[in-house]
This record gives sequence, structure tokens and C-alpha cells, in this order.
Amino acid sequence: MPLIATRYCLRCKDARPVRKVKEPHWRASKRLCVVCNGPTRRIKGRRKKDVMPAPLYEHKKLEQEADDLWRRIIWAKAVGGRCARCGNVRPLQAAHCFKRKHKQGGLRWEIANGSPICSGCHMHTEGDREANEAFFRSYMGDAEYERLPALKTMGGKVDMKLVILGLKVELAKSVDQTARPVVY
Ligand SMILES: [Zn+2]
Ligand SMILES: [Zn+2]
Repeated sequence: MPLIATRYCLRCKDARPVRKVKEPHWRASKRLCVVCNGPTRRIKGRRKKDVMPAPLYEHKKLEQEADDLWRRIIWAKAVGGRCARCGNVRPLQAAHCFKRKHKQGGLRWEIANGSPICSGCHMHTEGDREANEAFFRSYMGDAEYERLPALKTMGGKVDMKLVILGLKVELAKSVDQTARPVVY
């Protein structure tokens, strides 16, 4: 489902889903932007059935925010801007050990579940299970490699706001927050 909305936020200057707010003495509800609570106006010709529901949109936004924080923390783990696998100084990517589709237990946003590696190493490990396991076992240690998949069996919904708060704490602890790859 696309990230589109029937209304335009005047503050975000973009299409946004809205939440309806109604006070008893108001004639009609106000429709406020779910991101910034700002005023919105209708976009002509957009049908309600074509848009992502506001709660889903809000959840996707939180996932994106967590992804961005996670990536920056993983980049900050790079020593001297070097690929953690081949040791070359190259533009780095944030690679998942256990694939990012695994959101259960917050595995996708676990700091231990990522490593800063170059695009060549990333492609190689993504396409080769054994190479992936060999690299990540040596990178994080066997104990961590065996702990991480257990998160997938955790029941219950992941609290994205809690995940984001935890990532912010980790990012603040990162030594080199200015480390940015050229390509991502
Ligand atoms: Zn807004
Ligand atoms: Zn590499």
C-alpha cells in the first residue's frame, strides 16, 4: 500500500494521513497531521480507499526512524573507516547478519545484528550463507551469533517507540558519530 494520503499538511509541506480531533462545541472535526499535528487541507481527487491507514503510516514512519538510527550506530562501529570484513577503506554499508525482514523481538534493530562492511563484502555475504555465517561468527563471537536468532521466537508486538529510545542511547554512546559513508 502506498504512503499517500488524502490531505496535505501545511507544516510538513507534504501529503499526510490525519487524525480527527473533535471538541463538543465544534461544528466539525479538525483533521490534524499524524506527524506534526499541524493543520491540513484536502487534496482534490484522492480517494480514501487508495491511502494507507494512519496507524500503519505512523508505524512505518517509526520503523524508518529506527532503521536510520540503527544504520548510523553500525557505521560508527567501523574502525578507521575500514570494512569490518576485508579491511579496506571503502564506502561502507550497514549489513544485517540475520536478515532485516526479521522484526520479531526487534532483531532488525539489534545493534549486535549488524556490521559496517563495504558493498563488495555485503553482496558476497548476502549471496552466500556460509560466508555470511563465517564472517559474523568471527565478528560478533559464537555466543552472540547463537543468541540473536532466539529473539525471533519472542512473542508480542515490538514497541517501536521503546526501540527508538534504546537506539538513541546507543547512538549517543557511539564514539564517532560523524562517520558517514559516501554510499548507502
Ligand atoms: Zn505535518
Ligand atoms: Zn569489504
